Amino acid sequence: MALIVQKYGGTSVGSIERIKNVARRIIATKHQGNQVIAVLSAMAGETDRLLKLAEQLEFDPEKINEREMDVLVSTGEQVSIALMSMAIETVGEKACSFLGHQIQILTDDEYTQARIERIDPERIHKALYDGYIVVIAGFQGIDKEGNITTLGRGGSDTSAVAIATTMKADLCEIYTDVDGIYTTDPNICHQARKLAKISYDEMLELASQGAKVLQIRSVEFAKKYGIPLHVRSSFSADEGTIVCQEDKSMEKAVVSGVAANKNEAKITIHGIPDRPGIAATIFSSIADRGIVVDMIIQNISEEGLTDLTFTVPKDNYQYSLSIINDICRQIGGKNVLGDEKIAKVSIVGIGMRTHANVASRMFSALARENINIMMISTSEIKVSCVIAEKYTELAVRVLHDEFQLDKDPDYKE
Ligand code: ADP
Ligand code: ASP
Ligand code: MG
Repeated sequence: MALIVQKYGGTSVGSIERIKNVARRIIATKHQGNQVIAVLSAMAGETDRLLKLAEQLEFDPEKINEREMDVLVSTGEQVSIALMSMAIETVGEKACSFLGHQIQILTDDEYTQARIERIDPERIHKALYDGYIVVIAGFQGIDKEGNITTLGRGGSDTSAVAIATTMKADLCEIYTDVDGIYTTDPNICHQARKLAKISYDEMLELASQGAKVLQIRSVEFAKKYGIPLHVRSSFSADEGTIVCQEDKSMEKAVVSGVAANKNEAKITIHGIPDRPGIAATIFSSIADRGIVVDMIIQNISEEGLTDLTFTVPKDNYQYSLSIINDICRQIGGKNVLGDEKIAKVSIVGIGMRTHANVASRMFSALARENINIMMISTSEIKVSCVIAEKYTELAVRVLHDEFQLDKDPDYKE
């Protein structure tokens, strides 16, 4: 008898009809002779709706009560697990739902961005042993004081992988609204091609560059514990994509995927004194408020002055701007400029390690469309460019074409 963890995302449980459809899939898996643990997200749009309710209180960003935010946003998953268990029971199978605290999903105390530290397998084992289909609320846990925590947007993916690890599951399936991982977001580029498999490292880069199909931490977890993930659709029986350890065949593609991220904004401080300690002052003032900086560029100094540009999440833009304006005055900088209408496009591929001029091909392809590059960053298997937001979709398509991602590198004519 195999133990299978199935995670269903918001769209897959977005209506009663869809919940019934998923209930049928879960029951079919059980009837094939397996034990099943289903990890669910909130119904589509529910987490956004809850966040918008809180926004209407117009709180000061420095005084957000993140503990209460987690109490609020964790409720979405409570609704979907209860409905799913009831839907399963109406068909005559036994199901039992659990919230994070009921199975001791222990996290650190970083509200809204908590990390899972431990899960108690006992109650889940007992329910499975008693013949129940176990239905668990994704996205949530508790800290050691018993406070409710959540794992960041898309966190149910991480819940599923962590539960699969703890329970030593034979398989971890991530059911979503697309039928696998594509060479780029299939909702942006219709030429996108479904990949049969992708390495953890490439998936990590794609996820951190904006491909929200898997939460980054879920891939980190899967990589650390060597759990293969099967990403597939809850609306079809087609095979999806396996996220796994890299193998030789994956190196054939120079670039495996293109990702885009519109959730960052950039801030530039002009004319700052070029002396030791200035960058530390600027970035610790941002980091102390829990704001995560992504790209950073510092210019060569002229006459003892330099410029510094960096990106922050768009949600933290106004807040970061006010902090940086204060810092600029304190350190005697000239002025601060910001731009919210930017996007980051990235190409990712383990084949890049062994191929020269991948970056220059990317820059030339963008130049041919007259797309100006504002910032560049690279890693061993990734090149990212910040461009004007209005060119995002065009840039994705152009890069997809340039690297012929619609063609399977294994295919020989
Ligand atoms: P769920 O609610 O099931 O967790 P998400 O909305 O979080 O689903 O993630 C699925 C979405 O990820 C897809 O609808 C697609 O628009 C987007 N996506 C971005 N990049 C990719 C990619 N490379 N392959 C597949 N989907 C992608
Ligand atoms: N409901 C949460 C969100 O919308 C978690 C998830 O869907 O994975 O981000
Ligand atoms: Mg998701």
